[in-house]
Amino acid sequence: MSKLTRIDILQVVNEFMTEKGWQGRSCGACGRTFFSKPSSKMDTSICGWHECDNGTYPFRAFVKRKKRVTPPEVSAKIAEYFGSIGFGLVAPLNVANFEGQTDLIIAGVQMFDGIIHRNQAIQEEKVFVAQPCVRMQFQQYVETQEGTSTSFVNVCTEKMNAKFDEHLQIVDNWFTVLSKLGLHMNDFVIIMRTSVNDWGTGKFSALELFFFYGGLELGDASYFLVPRANGDHIPISDIGFGLERIVWAINKTGSYFDTLIPWIANGSREMFDSCRTLALLVLCGVQAGNKGPGLQFRRFSKVLSEKYYEEEVYRILEYYFDYWSQFIKPAISRDAAIQLVRLEIERFINLKVCEMLDLPPPREETTEAYLNRLVYTCNVDIYELRKAIQSCKT
Ligand SMILES: [Zn+2]
Repeated sequence: MSKLTRIDILQVVNEFMTEKGWQGRSCGACGRTFFSKPSSKMDTSICGWHECDNGTYPFRAFVKRKKRVTPPEVSAKIAEYFGSIGFGLVAPLNVANFEGQTDLIIAGVQMFDGIIHRNQAIQEEKVFVAQPCVRMQFQQYVETQEGTSTSFVNVCTEKMNAKFDEHLQIVDNWFTVLSKLGLHMNDFVIIMRTSVNDWGTGKFSALELFFFYGGLELGDASYFLVPRANGDHIPISDIGFGLERIVWAINKTGSYFDTLIPWIANGSREMFDSCRTLALLVLCGVQAGNKGPGLQFRRFSKVLSEKYYEEEVYRILEYYFDYWSQFIKPAISRDAAIQLVRLEIERFINLKVCEMLDLPPPREETTEAYLNRLVYTCNVDIYELRKAIQSCKT
């Protein structure tokens, strides 16, 4: 890592944290080094990593603030703070990614994909971005693990060609802005880790500081020297948080999804999560396909058609289209977006009905249009059709 060795770096972090009033500790369960404040109310014999505590998120029992907050409000406050101390505020990328290693944007640091993978000119400006992201690997945990969603806003600061002390200065900026938001440092545990990564241009190691608030991982501060396609290495300070998790930490509601679903709707976390991510994909101009971002569009549509098919789903999709519109400029109108999703969800329904009753095959049409055609031009039995549609619903 630049001219400093790993030992030096760990020592520099220790000195920095001690100076800011943190105490270094070692986890009794996993042995990781972590930091907490001397006045912490948390159990500081273990680090709070989900493998080490029992995942009960004790922050929910902390004293709640009087006024609840929304993700756009919190994002605006963080942006305002970083703007006031000289960070550039940049627009997020479209989630369909063509520059780097992943089909979809999974983190704000991918604003550098073109620089790392395609040798574009280095950007030195320190910036803040609120980047909508999709992480498919979270899908299997949405139902079982609180605080998990396949899409979220990664609020982050990025600085290319950062020196290590600049990185620590930005870490300190995050301590400040989190405190301003009402998340006190006394209630945080900072876990230190080194990891080895490879983004397709060669292995590199990163020093990471994970921020846990009362048992909930909010984000991490990472410093690394990443190899570029041309063989250079660039130091990057990459500090990113999950906006919706910060909001949950502030609001301290029972469930992460409590304030992330429409008030009047009912359903499972998997259903809401599928609608949420599908709305983000379609808002970014992604269409159903057999590979890349289009395949994920198809996968979420299939889940909705197989397990949650009803008219209500489209209203929930509209709700999430409006949610994401607060963070990223839509590539398509809301009505056109919902129609595209409808065609894909109902393609599965039409095929199912067609197979069930051995009917003429569907075209590229909605279920309403398909059934209309069957009733008025193919003279299909109306009661049989209605029964078949009912059986597609949950
Ligand atoms: Zn531990």
